[in-house]
Amino acid sequence: MSTVIPAWSIPSIPVAGESGRFPVRRIYCVGRNYAAHTREMGGDPTREDPFFFMKPADAIVMHGTTLPYPQATRNLHHEIELVVALKGGGANVPADKVMDLVYGYATGLDMTRRDLQNAAKAGGKPWDMGKGFDRSAPITAIQPASRIGHPSKGAIWVKVNGKTKQSGDLADMIWSVPETLAYLSGLVELQPGDLVFTGTPEGVGPVVSGDLVEGHVEGVGDLAIRYA
Ligand code: MN
Repeated sequence: MSTVIPAWSIPSIPVAGESGRFPVRRIYCVGRNYAAHTREMGGDPTREDPFFFMKPADAIVMHGTTLPYPQATRNLHHEIELVVALKGGGANVPADKVMDLVYGYATGLDMTRRDLQNAAKAGGKPWDMGKGFDRSAPITAIQPASRIGHPSKGAIWVKVNGKTKQSGDLADMIWSVPETLAYLSGLVELQPGDLVFTGTPEGVGPVVSGDLVEGHVEGVGDLAIRYA
């Protein structure tokens, strides 16, 4: 293909135990999927339908690096999340079939410019600039489901400078991974390469310049990021 400006490479993530990488198409994120976090965000943790927002595919950044503190915020927050990576697609896929679409899992951070998100919420405006900014999705290598299975319980936590800030269990998700994917497939046709961030437990809080952010999802991966 000839392009009128230089083309960029497709964002991609390494895969544990494989030389090939996982190409990233789109990034969907679930809001308020753990009851205690829903309460701390001022929401009602009843089983209302899941809702979604997005990040650009090139918001992906590999962990193990030092990141610049993002522009336009004074209140950057960590949200540790289990990330699902899809190898297959489809629309209106039932929950008992949708796990066939899953390639694997990673540990990710849904970094959030909370000040911009809160202003957007207050004004009834979109969350995009609070959520979908540059380098807002630090992530580990993907673990194929063929190696680790499909995690539905296990510890998920984040530490800032060695101090535990978020600590929960995957079993506490309001909407399970198959339920979440099935619901999302009723809104958009899922595609190979899509990532789904599945929500965060309670304890979200600020990150400042110089902080080391370490995250863990049991059986999936350990993540570390420092902010310059
Ligand atoms: Mn989140």
